Parts: sequence; structure tokens; C-alpha cells
Amino acid sequence: MSRFFSSRYAGLTPYTPGEQPQERKYIKLNTNESPFPPSPGVLKAVSEESQRLQLYSDPESRLLRGALAKHYGLQTEQLLVGNGSDELLNFAFMAFCDENCPAIFPDITYGFYPVYANLNHIPYQEIPLREDLSFSFEDLPDRKGTVFLANPNAPTGIAKSVTEIEQLLQKRQDSVLVVDEAYVDFGAESVLPIVNRYDNLLVIQTFSKSRSMAGARLGFAAGCAELIRDLNTLKYSTNPYNVNRMTSAAGIAALQEDAYYRENARIIEENRRFTTDALRELGFFVPDSKANFLFARSERVNGGKLYRDLKERGILVRHFDKPRIKDYVRITIGTREQMEALLKEIKAILEEQ
Ligand code: PMP
Repeated sequence: MSRFFSSRYAGLTPYTPGEQPQERKYIKLNTNESPFPPSPGVLKAVSEESQRLQLYSDPESRLLRGALAKHYGLQTEQLLVGNGSDELLNFAFMAFCDENCPAIFPDITYGFYPVYANLNHIPYQEIPLREDLSFSFEDLPDRKGTVFLANPNAPTGIAKSVTEIEQLLQKRQDSVLVVDEAYVDFGAESVLPIVNRYDNLLVIQTFSKSRSMAGARLGFAAGCAELIRDLNTLKYSTNPYNVNRMTSAAGIAALQEDAYYRENARIIEENRRFTTDALRELGFFVPDSKANFLFARSERVNGGKLYRDLKERGILVRHFDKPRIKDYVRITIGTREQMEALLKEIKAILEEQ
């Protein structure tokens, strides 16, 4: 820390992103990216749009928001796009939490939530997951507070149903519920179809996972027009041109080629089933995942060692050196070939124990 660093952030522990190694080619199963390339229309749109880089992007992202509105049956005013869903999550912490309205989220969830709370000097309460890593809404406090719910949860992959979330919305009408659906396209239920019924529901999705666009940085928030207006106040106070021209064009093209991405998500679900079964056969505890990753623990090798041994063998997975989950590794679901290579190495590592 330099002697000039603001005392407002002196105690901040930043988020640690997953490794993006440049020195060696790994089978990369550590950051929940898609193993599939973007669709041809996306590549074409990016190339064409790059001809106009001298011009600012549309600060209102009207074409992209219009395409999203049409795709999801919403009004354009109900949508805001962002530089990845991370940016929109930060805006949601800023917009809907303060000293009197804490953030509330599970103790094991997306690691950025406590960082955003600390960054914005927002108090937060962590609700412990149950022993089996499930999250019961009964454990939520009655107090006012903005609940951040990753659904499916990360890194567990466990999902809640729309019915359960709807009950929560009805019970907590005085608070906003932010549902982070980064991984929803891999078999979980989205609450997008019910946004029109609740003025306290904000849904956040990303193009990073099911739409193979992690490197383009595109997310969107959907909710009633008033909630979106609040987020816009923060966007225009931060970065009006938050979504660049090429990403915007790529997003529109991706929506037009939805069938390609749906088929890819289906393949990921199939590979997830295959990998879950194989890991369980090897004695791993693996919760049922609705995401493009698995969270897995073996009695025979601890999470840190499994991560290191796999890395040595050319396969990257994610390990969180945190209480309660340090015995686990999180494995992104890739192609069938990648999953077979992973299982082969895991078997070899277990045999060495
Ligand atoms: N939410 C969750 C639960 C995530 O795991 C991630 C990916 N790290 C994000 C949001 C952010 O994704 P992005 O900023 O790429 O849209």
C-alpha cells in the first residue's frame, strides 16, 4: 500500500479471480468458462463493429436492450446492461443497501459479495449454509435487508425453485431480493418470467457462461423500471459507456443464435451428469449441481492437494482455501474429452494416496 492510499479503503481485501495462466496450456476447468467458441454470427458482428471504434458506444445500449427485451418478453426500461454481471452486482450493492439496510447472503456463495459490501461500507450478514451445503430460507432473519441469492449457488451448484423464491419475495416485500442467475441456463429455473409481478425483484444474468462471452464482459439486470432507474443513476455516475461497441454487437448476435447456445448448454448438462456419476463412483461427495461446475470432496485426498496434483498434470480446477470448503475443489464442466482426461488423472492421483 502506498502512503497515498485512501484510508477509506485501507482495510479492503480485494476479490481474487481464478488463475488465467499464460505460461503453459492447461485443460482449464477453473473459471466456469464455456469450452465452446462464440457462434459465427458473433464473430462476424464483432469484426464489423470494430470498424467503428472511433465512435463512442451508445450509452443507453438501446439496440442491445431492445434485443434483450424482445428475447425475454420485457420492456426496454426494465433492462440495464453492464460490463459483466460483476459491475451490475456492484451497482446493486450501492443502490439497495446502506447502514439501515444491510446486505444478507449465505456464508458460502459468490466471493465477490463481501468484497462489494466492504468496498461500499455496507454492513452485511452471512447466513450459514446447512451441513449438506443447502441454503434454507427459514434461516434468513426477519429484519429488513437486501438478500443476494446466487441461483444456482456458487460454488455449490445447488439451485432453488421459482416457487420457493416467490414465497420469499412475498414474505420480504419491504426489501429487494437480488437473484444472481449467472449459471441459470444449465438446467435451473429462472425468475425472469415473474419480474413483472414483483417490484422488489432484481434479476442479474451474464453472457459469460452459457453464451461463451466471458472475455467480452456482458451482463444484464432486469427488474421493474424504478429499480433499473436507480441502477442507472449509479451507472451514469461511474461509466456511461460501460458496454463497448463490439460487446454490444456480440450480445445482439448471440441472442439471434440462441439455438447454438442452448445446444451447448445441453451438452454441458450431459457431461455434468457423466462426471457427477463417475466422481461419486470414486467415492466423492458431490452435491447435485444445476450449474456448469461441480463441487466435490474426497475423503482420500484433500482439496488443496488435489488442486496442486491436477495442476502438475496439466489440469486447472479451483480450490478455495477457506474454512468449511477447503476440502473441496470446484470443477468446471468442459467437453466430454476434457472430463475424461480429468477423471483419468483423478483416478491416478487417488491410487497414489
Ligand atoms: N455471479 C456469479 C455467481 C459468478 O460466479 C460470476 C462469475 N465469476 C459472476 C456473477 C460474474 O460474472 P461476469 O462478471 O463474468 O458476468
